[in-house]
Amino acid sequence: MLSFWEQNTFLAYDYIVIGSGITGLNTACAIKEKEPKAQVLVLEKGALPSGASTKNAGFACIGSFTEKWADYQRLGESAFLKLIDDRWVGLYLLRKRLGDDNINFINYGGFELLLNNQLDIEDKINHLNNLLFKLFKKQVFYHAPQFIEKFGFNKTMVDTMLFNPFEGQIDTGQLMKTLMNYAGILQIRIINGINVVEIDTEGNRAKVVCKHDQQLITFTAKQVCLATNAFTSQFLPNEEIIPGRGQVICTAPIPGLKFTGIFQFDEGYYYFRNYGERIIFGGGRNLDFEGETTTSFDITDRIQHQLQFFLEEMIIPETPFQIEYRWSGIMAFNEQKTPLVKRINNHLVVGARLNGMGIALAAKIADEVSTLMLQAK
Ligand SMILES: Cc1cc2nc3c(=O)[nH]c(=O)nc-3n(C[C@H](O)[C@H](O)[C@H](O)COP(=O)(O)OP(=O)(O)OC[C@H]3O[C@@H](n4cnc5c(N)ncnc54)[C@H](O)[C@@H]3O)c2cc1C
Repeated sequence: MLSFWEQNTFLAYDYIVIGSGITGLNTACAIKEKEPKAQVLVLEKGALPSGASTKNAGFACIGSFTEKWADYQRLGESAFLKLIDDRWVGLYLLRKRLGDDNINFINYGGFELLLNNQLDIEDKINHLNNLLFKLFKKQVFYHAPQFIEKFGFNKTMVDTMLFNPFEGQIDTGQLMKTLMNYAGILQIRIINGINVVEIDTEGNRAKVVCKHDQQLITFTAKQVCLATNAFTSQFLPNEEIIPGRGQVICTAPIPGLKFTGIFQFDEGYYYFRNYGERIIFGGGRNLDFEGETTTSFDITDRIQHQLQFFLEEMIIPETPFQIEYRWSGIMAFNEQKTPLVKRINNHLVVGARLNGMGIALAAKIADEVSTLMLQAK
């Protein structure tokens, strides 16, 4: 049972954000930046953020060429350009909020490895470059076959490479720690280990019912935001939220590792990067779409073996290495690969479905979601 003090002091807020991933924390920070006196609470079911934000690969980017071409085909020109622009603006907002040094943002650039039968792309590259010139005022995708040899990739497996100078990488852990520290400076209250089980938006104030230690606790607020990404269906079963697991391996340091930067292949389904002299390598969801459409944080032999195969045969052939870490995280997708930002009712908004590009998008989504919340007076 809660005491008078607890009920009098800790349960009522102006704004509640559910989920302490990169979207939830940016949203809470954006609210406080715009309305410094607001009482803001973030509720997180995990001891740490427990979705994608502390599990990802740290690519701060607009995406690889083949992935972008597929996006362009699916979305058409204006929606495609908007998505790229949102990522670019989001990254700018995130870097401005936290500072490049604090998130270890490094702009080594991004590379794509084109494997067999992907050579017929000259016209497509020119087409996308022309389109993207409107946003970047510079060429975005360059042919860069010289890097196959320079970086030591297997020439029999990699036909050619592309380079994009706008891509960067961040330290995922450092980013999330800095975001939590900044939220602390802004006096945002974060409660961990508390699972939101119900949101009642019928009355004057929203009631957010949580479970902790078999006890139900109800917080109230004027406005509530769902920043629960892949776990949003629990509250909004009619929205298109398709969970997608991403599996990752991370090597022990490999002395003399030849490459730096972020790398992708197969329309972005595989991605690797250096972290110092380590390689962080993830992906392979397209090997088993059905099995990877899940919110379970397991890893599977099939995908782990495939990652290891590419590492041994293509990325660092003939170099001994050890895998020191393996993990998975859960993303949220829809067919169109577009984020879900909208008002659900008088008390509830949602900012979710970051589609595997949350580092670049989150601060932009947070800006939009916080505006929606603050507008509702
Ligand atoms: C393996 C992997 C690699 C990736 N690589 C990249 C990359 O290189 N670049 C990039 O831009 N993106 C990448 N992504 C995607 C990126 O991580 C996500 O888009 C982003 O983290 C989504 O952030 P979020 O805050 O919206 O969701 P999440 O980080 O999933 O946060 C949602 C939070 O809500 C909490 N929650 C859910 N339900 C409840 C509840 N009922 N009560 C309380 N709390 C709840 C969860 O515990 C979680 O902490 C990757 C993702 C994965 C999994």
